[in-house]
Amino acid sequence: MMSERAQTILKEYFGYDAFRPMQQSVIQTVLAGQDCLVLMPTGGGKSLCYQVPALVMSGICVVVSPLIALMKDQVEALLANGVPAGYLNSSLSAEDQYELENECLADKIKLLYVSPEKLLSPGFFSFLKRLTVNLFAIDEAHCISAWGHDFRPEYTQLKYIKEQFPQVPIVALTATADRLTRQDILKQLGLPSAKVFVSSFDRPNLNLTVLPAKNRFKVILDFLESHRGQPGIIYCLSRNSTEQLAQKLMGEGYKATAYHAGLPAQARSKAQEAFLKDNVQIVCATIAFGMGIDKSNVRWVIHYNLPKNIESYYQEIGRGGRDGARAGALLFYSYSDVMRLRDMFKEGNPEQVSLQIAKLDRMQQFAEAATCRRKILLQYFGETLEKDCGNCDNCRNPPATFDGTLLAQKALSAVARMQEKVNMSLLIDVLRGARNQAVLQKSYDKIKTYGAGRDLPHQDWQSYLHQFLNAGLLEMAYEEGYALKLNNRSREVLFSNQKVKLVKFQPVAEKEEEKVERRPKKEFIKDELFERLRALRKSLADERQVPPYVIFSDSTL
Ligand code: ADP
Ligand code: MG
Repeated sequence: MMSERAQTILKEYFGYDAFRPMQQSVIQTVLAGQDCLVLMPTGGGKSLCYQVPALVMSGICVVVSPLIALMKDQVEALLANGVPAGYLNSSLSAEDQYELENECLADKIKLLYVSPEKLLSPGFFSFLKRLTVNLFAIDEAHCISAWGHDFRPEYTQLKYIKEQFPQVPIVALTATADRLTRQDILKQLGLPSAKVFVSSFDRPNLNLTVLPAKNRFKVILDFLESHRGQPGIIYCLSRNSTEQLAQKLMGEGYKATAYHAGLPAQARSKAQEAFLKDNVQIVCATIAFGMGIDKSNVRWVIHYNLPKNIESYYQEIGRGGRDGARAGALLFYSYSDVMRLRDMFKEGNPEQVSLQIAKLDRMQQFAEAATCRRKILLQYFGETLEKDCGNCDNCRNPPATFDGTLLAQKALSAVARMQEKVNMSLLIDVLRGARNQAVLQKSYDKIKTYGAGRDLPHQDWQSYLHQFLNAGLLEMAYEEGYALKLNNRSREVLFSNQKVKLVKFQPVAEKEEEKVERRPKKEFIKDELFERLRALRKSLADERQVPPYVIFSDSTL
């Protein structure tokens, strides 16, 4: 039973009649003094999970938040609701800080937002010890994990909180964390027995589409034709392209603006404000745009470039359709973006780089996938969607499948026979009967499935293994050299003869050909198509838009 006091506070301070189901459970847990980790999509209502307990209990709740802008918005919203709150960070003058600290000491503040730097600054813990801290909330908690997608080194010091305040519960909150990141957050914060709450990540109102990054501007103009007047965001990889794209769109008569971290603060808040108030329709932005933006009627999100991992992608498309009405998510995919991101990853320690590459690989697999995209996304976050979504491009236009049960059984049993210790490329070598050092050293040529998949080329196996991963029949343990692991679903395939459907391997560039074929009504004679393909193959090769393994077989004509 939720405490009556929590209900009253919800109504009186926030004006809502009921908690969302997970909020209720989290709040009960926090009030019982237990640590927890809360995973809820953006807009799910994470803030109330600590704001309400802060008001129910006596004392003060300390909220660690990574962004100054975010803190300011939250504190202003709380003050507007009559909740005494304040924030401490580098943007405040010494007098203002001193004044706020005194208010805290006088027990006049219920929620104190701090940056991680502030929290760890000398003397701050002893200041906190003079207060009655009732709860620590760590917002955007994925920042603590190097496995997460927005790692911030200063977050790693937050482990001292539990050491210094063992009696005070901690609630860590994030909208984005895969299985490994979750474990890591708990480990880093020193919360081995925290209760973990994961709400569904399913966003059935998002229509997912992936297109090759060809003629992007033209495709965007067509897309905008069918989204007249609807607000949306175009995410770009570089600051330059946000500005260029905004210019080009304005040239076409659209109200567009650019947003990136290189702009002066004033220009940024002006752009944000204009978008929130529907004075501009389109924001062309880098990933700097969006964290904490509360706009419910974003009707579409376009990724002009490939995001660096699925967490970022999911977070960004999640800014569309918060009101529950349909929203479009269009991703442009090109191999040159993959190369560009890989180049960007080069800096940093080798472990970090290989993790980023592995995550980029998953992103690439998603973009190249031929099966239900929503299923793949949810699977990535550990959720299983029973039926295909029916809304994504692949569901709307399904590719032909074949019975891949036998292939799956071969691969999965090889994984089992090698004690779930091998990564994808070694597995493929074993299946194809390669005699290289890695195989021979471990005597993998002696296992029963050695060479059982010789009839398929390497890239076909790679595609099928990606499909198994996407379908959740296999898992990848980043932390163990990217070893492939079996799970319950793999066991169903191995032992209960569960059928597996596969889409025949198609190199990326063939999608271009589909586009040609789908052109309305016009009949192509074979020669013309052949010429087009040859030209395309050449231009793609020139631009290095396709993976080196792409093959064109004339049988596709
Ligand atoms: P998150 O931090 O998970 O992205 P917020 O805490 O900012 O989400 O909440 C998102 C929106 O949902 C806010 O506008 C908030 O006022 C609203 N909201 C949260 N909880 C409730 C509730 N129980 N009933 C109605 N609206 C709610
Ligand atoms: Mg939030």
